[in-house]
Amino acid sequence: MQWMLRFLFALALFFNAACAATNPPTVRQLPSSAEAVYGYQVERLSDGVHSLNQGDGFYLQPRGNVGVIEQSSGIVLVDSGGSPAGAEQVIAFIRSISDKPVTAIVLSHWHGDHTLGVSRLLQEWPQARVISTQPTREMLVSPDADRYMPGDDAQANARYAADIQEGVSFLRQASEDQNLHEADRAGFAQSAREYEQFGREMTTARRVAPTETFESTVTLQDRVRPVEIRFLGRANTSGDAIVWLPRQRIVFTGDVVVSPIPYGFNSYPGDWIEVLNDLKALDFVVLAPGHGRPVLDGIYLDRLIAMLTDVRVQVAPLAATDLNAEAASAQVNLDAARDAFAGEDRWLRRWFRNYWKDPIVSSALREARGQPIVQGAE
Ligand SMILES: [Zn+2]
Repeated sequence: MQWMLRFLFALALFFNAACAATNPPTVRQLPSSAEAVYGYQVERLSDGVHSLNQGDGFYLQPRGNVGVIEQSSGIVLVDSGGSPAGAEQVIAFIRSISDKPVTAIVLSHWHGDHTLGVSRLLQEWPQARVISTQPTREMLVSPDADRYMPGDDAQANARYAADIQEGVSFLRQASEDQNLHEADRAGFAQSAREYEQFGREMTTARRVAPTETFESTVTLQDRVRPVEIRFLGRANTSGDAIVWLPRQRIVFTGDVVVSPIPYGFNSYPGDWIEVLNDLKALDFVVLAPGHGRPVLDGIYLDRLIAMLTDVRVQVAPLAATDLNAEAASAQVNLDAARDAFAGEDRWLRRWFRNYWKDPIVSSALREARGQPIVQGAE
């Protein structure tokens, strides 16, 4: 079952979340290739500030959101598009609004759905700075990331490609499993189509090391749209960067905030709560998450904070037992939170458990036991 675990983790990295709200008129689809099953849509957040996101629908959406911020001398990007094809859409959008070059690409964290567009963007704008925290850079240059994204090792890339094909087969079989509910079969069918496209996109994808790192804050000065890149602490990964526009009061969170279902593998629940409180304290006007559509208030943050707090409270007494993560998860009751995040949607409820409850209990258990939480471990 090893491939299955790896597959589920890889799948988790690329799962998108999207708000179920109807689209306001600011949303428009960006053109993509004719055979594409998924692509970006764009939303204007403020003058010169846009979010590219995957919109509604929660399947296997392998592209993290991209923030596009126009400064006087160039464009600053928050994340890169998840693949060369994703970067193509980012490039086409930038060309449609400005002649300026991309001067900086901020990587919110190491996961491929946020970093694998960099190589294509640098072909277009070789002078662009690529900025991340040190932990993010360390992971991107480490062979530990070979299981989750292509790099320079041809053998590792071949294994990765084979894993994707196994994943596609698994999803197709699940989509035909008559023991499953119709809604689940439909979800697996759509996911299989998306994973196939993803596999094609990965054949040209290569991860690239950031050109510079920062410790706590770096500011990209501008008269109208200064950009502050900050490390608030560990949260979803060991090196999550957030991007704050103090003049527009817009924050790009990377996967510190993902809707409608957060992602809990190898994360840091206690520190994460503090980071979420810091985000709240920014008193933002718009919060653009790592996946899903932008939000205009702190309600979703409050729900995340309450749920993480609850997980830690329920896990604390289990730390002294010899329960493994799976058994511990069975002892933890997140039914109310599941209803709040996933509603009655069968498909969402399934992934709330697979991508949130089980992994976040595992992370919280490690935290409570004082065991290390290692990126890419689960
Ligand atoms: Zn992501």
